[in-house]
Amino acid sequence: MSIKENIEEVRRRIREAAIRSGRNPEDVTLVAVTKLHEADEMNEAIDAGVTDIAENKVQEILRKKEDVKPVRWHLIGHLQTNKVRQIIDQVVMIHSVDSVKLAKEIDKRAAQHGLVMDILIQVNIAHEDSKFGIDEDDLDRMIREIADECSNVRISGLMCIAPFEENPEDTRPCFREAKRLYDKYANGEHTDRIDFKYLSMGMTNDFEVAVEEGSNMVRVGTAIFGNRDYRSEEK
Ligand SMILES: *Cc1c(COP(=O)(O)O)cnc(C)c1O
Repeated sequence: MSIKENIEEVRRRIREAAIRSGRNPEDVTLVAVTKLHEADEMNEAIDAGVTDIAENKVQEILRKKEDVKPVRWHLIGHLQTNKVRQIIDQVVMIHSVDSVKLAKEIDKRAAQHGLVMDILIQVNIAHEDSKFGIDEDDLDRMIREIADECSNVRISGLMCIAPFEENPEDTRPCFREAKRLYDKYANGEHTDRIDFKYLSMGMTNDFEVAVEEGSNMVRVGTAIFGNRDYRSEEK
């Protein structure tokens, strides 16, 4: 199947999952994850209607940007504070904020560019050692600290990565917990600095379960572009 057909199929599955859970399919943003894929494939996706793409590495965004048609870029991978400067005016959202220190650096660089960066706090619901993200017990404190100290970031929601499960159904408790944490803020007061609108969860293996549980931003790579060739990363 072509990239265009894959996107149509992913959209159909998102639509059906949204309807199953009584939600409006249009409330779910599809973010196409393009890591280890090149500009021609990315442009094919953009021609097929993709408006948002995501990479997990700063260097990849900088490397590809010139060759890719205008689109909203997201950063979804772990971000080191020393790379913030390079990326600050290149993306519309950073999904992977997991420390106050990182938020402060984003704030500082955003201020230098006169912009306000949308950030998501990455929560580690599954408590997996191998994953980045903060413990849910630290969420309230972290949000408060960032909101108190950073005037050029807007905390726009949460991001989570469910552990891979053979049976996607097994990810449901994880997504449900993320939605519970998200709702506390989404249903609370919205300010310039805390304005919860996005719950970024769901990947190729589990995006339908994530949408059923309330995700409104899914990050899908493999189902659109096929398997990634990780060998090419070593060059
Ligand atoms: C690679 C990646 C995705 C997409 O994964 P697929 O399984 O290919 O859909 C989503 N989110 C993050 C953070 C990723 O690194």
